Amino acid sequence: MIKRRRKTLVLLAALLLAIFYMQMQTAIPGIINDMDFDLGKKETPAITGLHPYVLKQKNELVRLTKQRGITIVITDGYRSHEEQTRIYNQGRTTEGDIVTNAKAGQSLHNYGLAIDFALRLEDGSVIWDMEYDGNGNGKSDWMEVVAIAKELGFEWGGDWDKFPDYPHLQMDFGLTIRELQRGKLPDADIHEYSEGAKSK
Ligand SMILES: [Zn+2]
Repeated sequence: MIKRRRKTLVLLAALLLAIFYMQMQTAIPGIINDMDFDLGKKETPAITGLHPYVLKQKNELVRLTKQRGITIVITDGYRSHEEQTRIYNQGRTTEGDIVTNAKAGQSLHNYGLAIDFALRLEDGSVIWDMEYDGNGNGKSDWMEVVAIAKELGFEWGGDWDKFPDYPHLQMDFGLTIRELQRGKLPDADIHEYSEGAKSK
């Protein structure tokens, strides 16, 4: 009788241990993932420039707009977190007008996935005039650039309902800012992304 009770107790203890173990198993992957994330973050090579595909399409944009008699300048590309913080502070804690609502890590510029453009006139001056028609074809040069950029796979900041950003062009490769912040990056060898698999 006593032996049986002891046996039951042992079984009960084993059961409790098993439950505890199973719970640890489900809890541990989360912990391990967080650790992997931190380690992975350190191992990820630092981004110091434009993503190769964005760079390629940027060069295409310069070339194709030139063909139409429009000269563009790329005023900004990759932006470090420090630079982003500096321009975020502008108009907030430092002098000047507010130019961005994105803090460090919140802009695709910080991942080498965005560029800003402006128009360059023959006299060398740089303008942000969206009505200017320098090639005289009856269309705004700015919007011609935007149309070509979209064909090249860029998303235009001017299409955003909240805080439209007219000089801004970006490619997110289907990744959200949250995913990028977690260290997820588009493959460096992503090509013809916008064209799909048919070119392969
Ligand atoms: Zn921008």
